Amino acid sequence: MNKAKEVFLYEMNSIDKLTYKGCPYCDKTDGEIMDSPQTARAFFYDFKKCSHCSLIYPFPRVTKETLRQYFLLMVGAVKQKAIMPKVYKFLKYIGPNSKILDVGAGHGEAGNYLKKRGCEVDAAEVNHGRAEYLRSKGFKVYEGAFEDVEIDEKYDVIILSQVLMHLFSIKEAILKIRKLLKDNGLLITSQMNFNSIVQQTVRSASPGRLNAFSISSYFTKESLCKILHMEGFKIKKVIFRKMSFFQYFFLSGYPKFPLLFRFMDYVIKNILAYTETSDYFTVIAKLDRKPG
Ligand SMILES: [Zn+2]
Repeated sequence: MNKAKEVFLYEMNSIDKLTYKGCPYCDKTDGEIMDSPQTARAFFYDFKKCSHCSLIYPFPRVTKETLRQYFLLMVGAVKQKAIMPKVYKFLKYIGPNSKILDVGAGHGEAGNYLKKRGCEVDAAEVNHGRAEYLRSKGFKVYEGAFEDVEIDEKYDVIILSQVLMHLFSIKEAILKIRKLLKDNGLLITSQMNFNSIVQQTVRSASPGRLNAFSISSYFTKESLCKILHMEGFKIKKVIFRKMSFFQYFFLSGYPKFPLLFRFMDYVIKNILAYTETSDYFTVIAKLDRKPG
């Protein structure tokens, strides 16, 4: 770790929020510190790529308790799952009348949409304010951190939109998903793309700038598909998607040259969108065998 990062850590008084534990999926510590633009801009950590599963994670990374606190304390600022790919894109994979668990359901946008189409939707939510909101909208809510909360039902479909990256242990999360899915059940999960061209070039200190204490993994199509394959899932579809101008604007906070910025945004949205360098991707995977 370089001196500037050490100083930043010290100034943040954040040492106790961090751990030098290994990979969030396989718990192994061997891997390479990535010599990437993201590493150069990250504030207090390096990006490490696990030699076994290819997962990229901040090193050091935040502790389980820090992650939990972050989401417990978060006041319902996110009014919608703005960064979830439009539900209709994967609706064709979800059978009518499916029983669905939406993990990190937020304000229930996806759930409401699916309910209107005849599905039964339960929610898992760590934040109390959001859990109460979801209950007021008629959802059955399992409140607590996904790895810890007791759920004794089985589902046809489990949705995790922008959730896996915030969990301390990807292994525990996937074990739980496997346990809760019926045979041939579907996992639909969307992630921030570490290989995004925006993450690599434009966004000033991200990934991780806004959520430095909330993220424990950074996924690529390669690593997520590899992990799901090892866990007995068959990948049915990977969808890449563009991000809107306004999301760039609010999340990045650097548009000193609005016209140039708009032009770049146009290029990114219309030419690079839906390629493997776009900002977000969703994987649709079917559980069809034992892991290994
Ligand atoms: Zn690993």
